[in-house]
Amino acid sequence: MLILAGGDLVLPDRILTGASLLVDEGRIAAVETRPAVDATGATVIDVRDCFVVPGFIDVHVHGVEGFDTLDEGDPVGEMARRLPRYGVTAFCPTTVACGPAPLRALLRRVTALRSSRAAGTARVLPAHLESNFINPEYKGAQPAECLRMPDAGRPAGLDFSGQDILDVISGARPDVGIVTLAPELPGAIALVTALVAAGHRVSIGHSGATLDEAMAAIDAGARHATHLFNRMAPMSHRAPGIAGAVLAREDVAAELICDGYHVHPAMAGMAIAAKGTHRMMGITDGTAGSGLTPGSTARLGGRRIRVTDTAAVLDEGTLAGSTLTMDRAFKTIVTAFGLSIVDAATLCASTPARELGLTGFGVIARDAVADLVVLDRAFRVRHTFIDGQQAYTSA
Ligand SMILES: [Zn+2]
Repeated sequence: MLILAGGDLVLPDRILTGASLLVDEGRIAAVETRPAVDATGATVIDVRDCFVVPGFIDVHVHGVEGFDTLDEGDPVGEMARRLPRYGVTAFCPTTVACGPAPLRALLRRVTALRSSRAAGTARVLPAHLESNFINPEYKGAQPAECLRMPDAGRPAGLDFSGQDILDVISGARPDVGIVTLAPELPGAIALVTALVAAGHRVSIGHSGATLDEAMAAIDAGARHATHLFNRMAPMSHRAPGIAGAVLAREDVAAELICDGYHVHPAMAGMAIAAKGTHRMMGITDGTAGSGLTPGSTARLGGRRIRVTDTAAVLDEGTLAGSTLTMDRAFKTIVTAFGLSIVDAATLCASTPARELGLTGFGVIARDAVADLVVLDRAFRVRHTFIDGQQAYTSA
């Protein structure tokens, strides 16, 4: 038995101050309003002057501390070892567009890491493929040579086709969670239908879709939007476009990069108000540059990126994702976006858990899985628990 004693417990609807959490066999056994609880043989951790929040679930993260999902070796295992330091208890390893061989290798590692989790490591969730089926004009830092049209055969002179990628996906179905695609590409709506029927979660993004094109994808079953506003056609009052469709449709959940740089805090606040916290997911879109100091270099899908004060960039300056970590995302939501701590926990844990169908995760409640983060008053991670076991401590 583990007892987190005397902290401020961030529940789904309120904060219980000076309270205690009892954890037994990986589950929350009781939420006690008392600051101290007697239980012989229990390990007691003093969490006075701290917030206890559900473990963060990042549905869009490419890497951390020098490791990128598409590196050789075991980058996803390295990420799983390193992410608990930032309060992450589960994550979707995320890839930029790549060829069939590196994608197959990545998915093999995801399969292995999902089937047995090493002690002290974050849970590896099914992968998020930012995918080959995105609009070249909105590719951002994704490699143009890897992009394919959903309805084309094998284009002359290219070493692989879109079908080759779909074959890799179909060979690892349970380990492919989210697939991002641009709905305006020829054949994209049929691809949405096929992927949804096969059990994947289709996300619209990296796209210049009009409102109607985005609505068609949602009607076909897309339920997710990749980093709202970033690498999308800009939204205006006469041409709401894909971002307008995402804000208007209740049945779509949106990712938001919560570093205060990729999306202005004022715009982030408006978007969260429009969608509600129950349909918005705080993400990092973190790269191998996350956790490194400005000036450091790392890789994204095999290409070099450089860490700046605000983000990660390719050598020619293109914005190439963030250097954000989930603890900073949580802090930014509260301090820059002006939301409550309860809302920040909803964005960083509860909504991603519910959207991914992770029953019993992402909330502090009796019988919920004990994936927990203890934050000090400056929102620094003090402890991370996964399955009730300490995965990280700052002490
Ligand atoms: Zn990304």
